[in-house]
Amino acid sequence: MHESINSYLREILKESSQDVSGTLAGYIPRLRDADENLQALALATTDAQACSVGDDEHLFTIQSISKPFVYALALDDVGLERVREMVGMEPSGEAFNELSLEGGTGRPLNPMINAGAIATHQLLDHTRHDSHSGGRASDSRTSQVRSRTARILEGMAGFAGRTLEVDWDAAEEEFATTYRNMAIAHMLKSHGSLDIEPDEAVRGYIDSCSVLVTVRDLALMAATLANSGVNPETGQQVVSAESARTTLGVMATCGMYDASGRWLTQIGIPAKSGISGGIIGVLPGQVGIASFAPRLDEEGSSVQGVSMFQHLSNELSLHVLSNQ
Ligand code: GLU
Repeated sequence: MHESINSYLREILKESSQDVSGTLAGYIPRLRDADENLQALALATTDAQACSVGDDEHLFTIQSISKPFVYALALDDVGLERVREMVGMEPSGEAFNELSLEGGTGRPLNPMINAGAIATHQLLDHTRHDSHSGGRASDSRTSQVRSRTARILEGMAGFAGRTLEVDWDAAEEEFATTYRNMAIAHMLKSHGSLDIEPDEAVRGYIDSCSVLVTVRDLALMAATLANSGVNPETGQQVVSAESARTTLGVMATCGMYDASGRWLTQIGIPAKSGISGGIIGVLPGQVGIASFAPRLDEEGSSVQGVSMFQHLSNELSLHVLSNQ
């Protein structure tokens, strides 16, 4: 059974490897130097079957794929009403790092863009978490930043079913030149949408983007969202079923940068991509899917990853809006 799925997944990798268009994310040193020929694909079902092919043990920084998971944790920590006060749930139609806010409310439009993720970050409950695991002894993170990062690591470990780590050097490098995210955080602060200091919010947000994962981790994390917040392998209820469902709603409408409408129409799987080259997809009640290939299209999603998902959607009839 597994062998036939694995050979099918290998076939998809081979076909998508023909397209070598796209470029690496140039503005983060660690990503600019990535090996652009890496490729991997993984599935994890809600009844705890898993398979993966290609460079499935390669660790990479999660980047924006952290956003749905941190959003789900914030929903669990403070509830939907409080989260909605600070972050909307409408597609922005703009680049992920745009300096934009919703007219009228001054909130970021949704949690899948940087402004929304930075605003979401402040909502994490930092009071219950041991600040020691959220940083290195030598660094300058404040204890609240460390505690929020510890909350993220604990929550993401629940989704992944194993302990995850932050690539502290990658986080440090990105933080040193993250002028755009700092501009976004200052904009939020000036509109009353940030209750903590801008540099603390950005520091913690970048820690969350620097968590190291493999495609296998991402597939199981996606499967946990597909399984109403319960990790299919460990049985842990990581977030409530309601938080998982709300998260899938914003992934479906806003998860694929400014190509979210096209993705939902053509591929039809609630998804999130990140600029390190990963994409996750979630089919509720069925499966979590994760792909990895570093070359990116103009919107910032993996070229080969989009092709892998298109194959899976067409050939296995996974489009959520189709009954065929
Ligand atoms: N850490 C990256 C940033 O804030 C994440 C971007 C992404 O993956 O979309 O720019």
